[in-house]
Amino acid sequence: MKKPFLLAPAGSFAALKAAIEAGADEVYLGGSEFNARMNAGNFDKNELIKAARLCRSSNVKMHITLNTLVFDRELKALLEYVEFLENEVCPNALIVQDLGVACELRRNFPSLALHASTQMRIHSHEDAIFLKKLGFTRAVLARELPKQDIAAFVKTGLETEIFVHGAICVSESGGCLMSSVIGGRSGNRGECAQPCRLPYRAENKYPLSVKDMCLAEHVTELCDIGVTSLKIEGRMKSPDYVGAVTAVYRRLLDEGRNATESEMRLLKNIFSRSGFTDGYFINKIDKNMFGIRREEDKRNSDVKFTYPKAPPRIKSEDPIPANPEFFQRDEAKAFSPKLQRGFVLRFEGRMPTDAYLKRFAERAARIDLPLALCTEPRFSPYAEKISAVLPRSIFESEREEIRLQLEKARAFGIKHATVSSLNQLALCNGFYLHGDYAFNIINRASLEYFESLSFSSLMLSPETDGRFPKGSRCALEYIGYGRTPLMYTRTCIIANISGCLGKKRCFSRLTDRIGAEFPIISAPNHTNVIYNSLPAYRLDRVGELKKSGVGLITLLFTTETEKETALITECAFENRKPNIEFTRK
Ligand SMILES: [Zn+2]
Repeated sequence: MKKPFLLAPAGSFAALKAAIEAGADEVYLGGSEFNARMNAGNFDKNELIKAARLCRSSNVKMHITLNTLVFDRELKALLEYVEFLENEVCPNALIVQDLGVACELRRNFPSLALHASTQMRIHSHEDAIFLKKLGFTRAVLARELPKQDIAAFVKTGLETEIFVHGAICVSESGGCLMSSVIGGRSGNRGECAQPCRLPYRAENKYPLSVKDMCLAEHVTELCDIGVTSLKIEGRMKSPDYVGAVTAVYRRLLDEGRNATESEMRLLKNIFSRSGFTDGYFINKIDKNMFGIRREEDKRNSDVKFTYPKAPPRIKSEDPIPANPEFFQRDEAKAFSPKLQRGFVLRFEGRMPTDAYLKRFAERAARIDLPLALCTEPRFSPYAEKISAVLPRSIFESEREEIRLQLEKARAFGIKHATVSSLNQLALCNGFYLHGDYAFNIINRASLEYFESLSFSSLMLSPETDGRFPKGSRCALEYIGYGRTPLMYTRTCIIANISGCLGKKRCFSRLTDRIGAEFPIISAPNHTNVIYNSLPAYRLDRVGELKKSGVGLITLLFTTETEKETALITECAFENRKPNIEFTRK
């Protein structure tokens, strides 16, 4: 069994030195541009060159984070920056989030190794097919995955990187728009303001604050599974933190064992928020995963650490050569853009009534209903117009049930499926594919990539700057009305607020300090979506949107009453403005 590498964060030069001294095999750090921790110290060009020299002389591999979504207008600067990296820094890999960026890098810098960021929402072994074709050599898996799913991914042969220690997001990473929409600071663009650490008016005052992850008691299992690299989070943390945590994991790996009680205590004393969680890894997703940093957590952490001299490091092979092979679009598999014009009626909360459908279905371009609910007999007359919306993320253990639901939908006469993850394509064979906003499409290159996968339509990210890519080969879609989904959680936030209703689909709301209410809708398996406090309204811009190539305008219904739903639809169809309170985001 090959021992995993130990990968440590370096938010500053001092942290880099601490990581190396404590025995990291690999480090990851960000330059001053295009990286997901714009608030960390980061490295300017000279510092990057110096850091690379230090890493090489210490036989430590260096990964550079280039893990933000990038607008078309920034692409030129990005490519120039990567040219500098390739020529003067020679990193061992770049960590990338944006699929468009990945395609551009593959085209322009075929010899640079790419690692798929955890922001890419990699949940299934099925994702590996796409990553390999794009030339990725390693995937940083989503942090929500249970052990079995990690093991299934390892079997794909792609290098597998797992977060083992540090802060985790309550929302699926890469799928969080909360900071962006309510504070104008995009998490996907490296500026997360951490609204999940704020107090809210609820039974548990901090219903979104998840404890830090710690898998120190599972190191032997991770070795047995065969993961490539154990990653420590913390580019915003001090050199002392980085050194101390790295030293603990170094010892565990070298001695091939799990942490003892005293080592767990030591880790807690370094930093914790009411202790740690391993809930995702052991698939025990519950209230115990939540916690804040208490006074007693802070008291204990007033310790300076000395770390032992690190043993000599393992020499590793060079990255796998990239395979710059792309898919060809198959027009026969796609629904013609000409047949996709007008409004998409999308229901994520209350389902449409019979009266509503009778009145509006005929004139809709498409009707999006959750997969689990789309085969109610009363929807049968509208089957041709319905697209079954798959859950945002699907664990390996859930795939069989989803496959059965899709079979049922097909027998029901449904031909369209709305997907939000590449691993869902394999499940939707034979359906016309519609791409969800969760694909984070904000530039031309990522749009082209998804077009090449034969999508019929693609929804642009709510984070687009309004300048849409023109001349797409498939229909472009944009939310014209509706509450923007801010977070998608695998944990049940409703349980922290008002008590969870268990298996039933349920509603609740999160109230912030100034009284703004964010509706939450829970799916049967306790996944939650938190929506913006006000609906976004862009229907007065429909003409403008159409000019920039958007053919499909989505009306997204979540908490609206029957009456409101009908009013908004009627106004949209008749190009009138409803009298409602709204926001632009
Ligand atoms: Zn629940």
